[in-house]
Amino acid sequence: MAILCAAVLAAMILSRAWNDFAEARQNHHDIQNFRQILDTANFISAERGPANDVMSDPSGTALKRLADFRARSDTALASLAAKPEVPILLHDHSIPPGLLDAVAESLAAARAKVDRAATVQGGPAKLRAMQDAIEAMFAASDRFRAVVTWHANELTGHDSGLSEPVLVGQMLADLREYGGRIASEVIAPLATRQRIPLENIIDARRDQGRINQIWHMLRGQTAPNAMPDLAGNQAVIDTLFFGIGMDMVDAIIKQGKDSSDYPITAVELTKAFVPTMKSVEDYRTAFLDKTVSRVAAERDAALRLLATVSLATAIVLGVLVGVLLSVRRDVFRPLLQAREEVIGLAKDRPLAARPDPGGAGEMARLFDAIDVLQDRMRERASLTSELRLQAETDGLTGVLNRRTLDYIAQNGDDGLPAEDALGLVMIDIDHFKGINDTHGHLAGDRVLVETARLLKREVPIDCVVARFGGEEFALLFSCSDIDQAGHLAETIRGKLQDHRFTLSDGRQIAITASFGVACGKRGPRDWRHLVERADKALYRAKSAGRNRVSIAPATMAGRASGRDGERMRA
Ligand code: GH3
Ligand code: MG
Ligand code: MG
Repeated sequence: MAILCAAVLAAMILSRAWNDFAEARQNHHDIQNFRQILDTANFISAERGPANDVMSDPSGTALKRLADFRARSDTALASLAAKPEVPILLHDHSIPPGLLDAVAESLAAARAKVDRAATVQGGPAKLRAMQDAIEAMFAASDRFRAVVTWHANELTGHDSGLSEPVLVGQMLADLREYGGRIASEVIAPLATRQRIPLENIIDARRDQGRINQIWHMLRGQTAPNAMPDLAGNQAVIDTLFFGIGMDMVDAIIKQGKDSSDYPITAVELTKAFVPTMKSVEDYRTAFLDKTVSRVAAERDAALRLLATVSLATAIVLGVLVGVLLSVRRDVFRPLLQAREEVIGLAKDRPLAARPDPGGAGEMARLFDAIDVLQDRMRERASLTSELRLQAETDGLTGVLNRRTLDYIAQNGDDGLPAEDALGLVMIDIDHFKGINDTHGHLAGDRVLVETARLLKREVPIDCVVARFGGEEFALLFSCSDIDQAGHLAETIRGKLQDHRFTLSDGRQIAITASFGVACGKRGPRDWRHLVERADKALYRAKSAGRNRVSIAPATMAGRASGRDGERMRA
């Protein structure tokens, strides 16, 4: 889950960084294309300068310059028309061919008119031809303005952050276009030494109004605090273009309204006016240079961010995967193993050989603790079995004690088939006190131990041997036939009688014992009753002279089934 969440987060951050980079890259591509279009607009506008010169005075150098300017415009237009190869993953705004065709057509028509006007000699005819050609050149510029507008709309259409530079670029292009037009309004009358037609004056005034408006807006858009580097360029435009160029044209318009007695020629005006126009062009170039390099810097920053984010993401994911793997290896897996071992210990399963559990020192200590726990549990188990043995057996003889005998007779035991019928033989050594008295207590103990050993050896495997107390023993076995039980007692009696007990001083003694036999049922009440009956039978055997077997009389149930009454064997 952690890796999944981290991967989702990483994907989100990465896709964001990638989008920023892709957008910055697209912006850089777009602003460069836009710049190329604005340059082309500038070339077409600039063509009017040498065209005016040629129409005013078609000298060789003027013709050469015009040819150069035209070639420059044509190259720029051709390069716009030739669709350049678009770098991978970039979207290109290719100019609709119709727009460029219209520009080329209208430019060709204007140039034809310029060439014709150059050949017309003086007077109103020349004025009309020049005016006609100049207007045709204006029309070509207007056609190209449609290209600029189309591309500007393309760029500002999808919110790319380029709206402001595109708007300013358009205004700068307009400033240059209308600034040039003002001079062109007066160039024909000046060249033909005619008064300026009212129409031209109106157009020039209108252009002036536009220029002032554009300049006002431009100053706001490219305020020195927004683009401090361009403040110098603005000052130069104020001095040269507005201070000298515009004033010059203004003076000519004032003069040309009433008379055709101009102080300068058309060529002189062009020569003086073009440098003031250059300040506008310089401003335009500086602005576009700055914008392109700013967008390039943004693209580079986005690329650096993308690289940093990718690297950081890879590191974070790598570290996370590494941490999780090592936590699994060093913590979870050893913990699971420890858990298995603890459960195994609880279920008394011995611990299997442990492969290296791995993990840090804490894990090693955990497994040490489990080993300690295992040792303690082993000790406790052996202690428990020892205590159990002590609780269940008689300390002297090693056979079961009275308590255990009671328990087995009432509840059953693995060694004794869980049948209802039980046989009980009570054994009491005859004159045991005499042995103690004659040979000492230790000798008495020895007789007790050996008697127990003999009993264990001689009884059937599923017969329980217990020390009932003092010098009394009991045999308990499943039995449905009292005769069979009596037979067992008789066999044991014979063996005891025949056995010779060797005392510590080497002397050998013989003993006898009296036997009381009874059959009954398992269960607390039946057991007490069974013991009583066997005990009574034993008493009778004692009374009858000892060293004999006495069988308890059958109970009411026993008698009903045809069983015998009291019998005695000796
Ligand atoms: P009887 O034939 O009537 O059974 O006579 P008896 O002497 O065997 O019976 P009595 O009840 O008079 O004596 C039993 C003796 O057994 C008394 C007691 O000191 C002795 N005795 C009981 N437990 C032990 C024991 O663990 N070790 C030894 N050495 N003697 C024991
Ligand atoms: Mg006794
Ligand atoms: Mg006795």
